[in-house]
Amino acid sequence: MKKIAVIGGGASGMMAAITAANSGGQVTIYEKNDRIGKKILATGNGKCNYSNRDFNTAYYYGQNTDKLEHLFEQFSVTDTISFFLEGGMLSKERNGYLYPLSEQASTVLDILRLKINKLSVRVELQSEVTAIEVLGKGNEFLVKVGGKGECYDRVVLTCGGCAAPKTGSDGSGYRLARGLGHRLVDTVPALVQLRCREDFFKIAAGVRCEASLSLGEKNSPIQVERGEVQFTDYGISGIPVFQFSRTAAYLLKERKEVPVYIDFFPDWEEAEYEEMCRRRTEDLSGKNAEEFLIGMANKKINMVMLRQAGIKPSEEAHKIGKERLKKLLFSYRKLCTHVVAANSFDHAQVSAGGVNMKEVTSSLESLLVPGLYFAGELLDIDGRCGGYNLQWAWTSGFVAGKNAAV
Ligand SMILES: Cc1cc2nc3c(=O)[nH]c(=O)nc-3n(C[C@H](O)[C@H](O)[C@H](O)COP(=O)(O)OP(=O)(O)OC[C@H]3O[C@@H](n4cnc5c(N)ncnc54)[C@H](O)[C@@H]3O)c2cc1C
Repeated sequence: MKKIAVIGGGASGMMAAITAANSGGQVTIYEKNDRIGKKILATGNGKCNYSNRDFNTAYYYGQNTDKLEHLFEQFSVTDTISFFLEGGMLSKERNGYLYPLSEQASTVLDILRLKINKLSVRVELQSEVTAIEVLGKGNEFLVKVGGKGECYDRVVLTCGGCAAPKTGSDGSGYRLARGLGHRLVDTVPALVQLRCREDFFKIAAGVRCEASLSLGEKNSPIQVERGEVQFTDYGISGIPVFQFSRTAAYLLKERKEVPVYIDFFPDWEEAEYEEMCRRRTEDLSGKNAEEFLIGMANKKINMVMLRQAGIKPSEEAHKIGKERLKKLLFSYRKLCTHVVAANSFDHAQVSAGGVNMKEVTSSLESLLVPGLYFAGELLDIDGRCGGYNLQWAWTSGFVAGKNAAV
């Protein structure tokens, strides 16, 4: 029977521990917090979007994603649903997004905790692992918590990244991985709000509206996302922004310009839009610029557009002239802003980057240190918003735990 240490009692660590114990391992979880699974309780606004039926490995990012297909074949979305159902959890689905029927993240955690207790997994709380030493010729590890150490046949590192450090994942997993010789892909905050240069955000703050957002130059965007954009007093937020935040953060790290173009009329064909603009400029009598824009978009957005065009709200529309007004109307299709920073890891849902997937096997075992396994966000894999990051935690935890026990 293999003696296995799982370092970190988050989603991936709990799944690794359950699978390793189910496969005959004698398992101990080390968790620095006074409870396991703290982050799970914060997921999906407390409802835990634990996976997504609309699955594709293309929804995951990292420098090396070639092992993903094989990994997800071993533990798929269907396996995840069955795993939680077997523990008693019913699920509900909204546009593919999967939640516990109870709409309580604590249900997901309860199922994991019950399985852990049933399998007699030892859980060491308030136990931050500070070092891991490889003994002799390898295949034996000394896991150290403060001054004390204990020997194991296998170690599974599941410390998470450094997103939401208040939940425990403060980057200590990166230090442990480095200490064992692994190289890291640079980490950046992902699924996070973006801070922008323009000062019109003070006007737009509080607006939420459907839009299409293009990251990169207007005619050759790097990523286009559609959904509800939220304007804050410092920049942009909302799911479409989260979806390209990792791309923006990496571009900023390379000191590149990061323009974003916002189209407030994503459903309108060009010809249809032109016709609407033509009609709108037919009768300008008695209207000032602000009145001319009534009904185009949220009033605050109309004000932003006027400001960007250098037109005073009180200016008489007919004096502005049809051509300039048409230009103003067309600006709703390409409001440009420039990202200057991503919000910090404190605000991010995940960390992009981490342990290089080139340095692990398709069983998630280290190619440098046999007997050492990785799972979860600590690896250089991050998913889109929508349950994909937890699905990665379940899948990678399952694969690492199963193989560690062999
Ligand atoms: C606010 C928020 C909402 C989210 N919502 C969703 C969602 O709805 N759907 C989704 O798919 N994803 C969501 N995510 C992302 C998802 O929660 C994470 O990707 C996932 O939990 C990562 O699991 P993990 O096990 O790799 O790491 P973590 O869950 O971060 O677990 C790591 C654990 O290791 C412990 N640890 C760290 N270092 C040590 C050490 N040296 N010794 C001992 N213990 C240590 C930590 O205390 C922690 O408990 C959300 C994230 C946040 C912050």
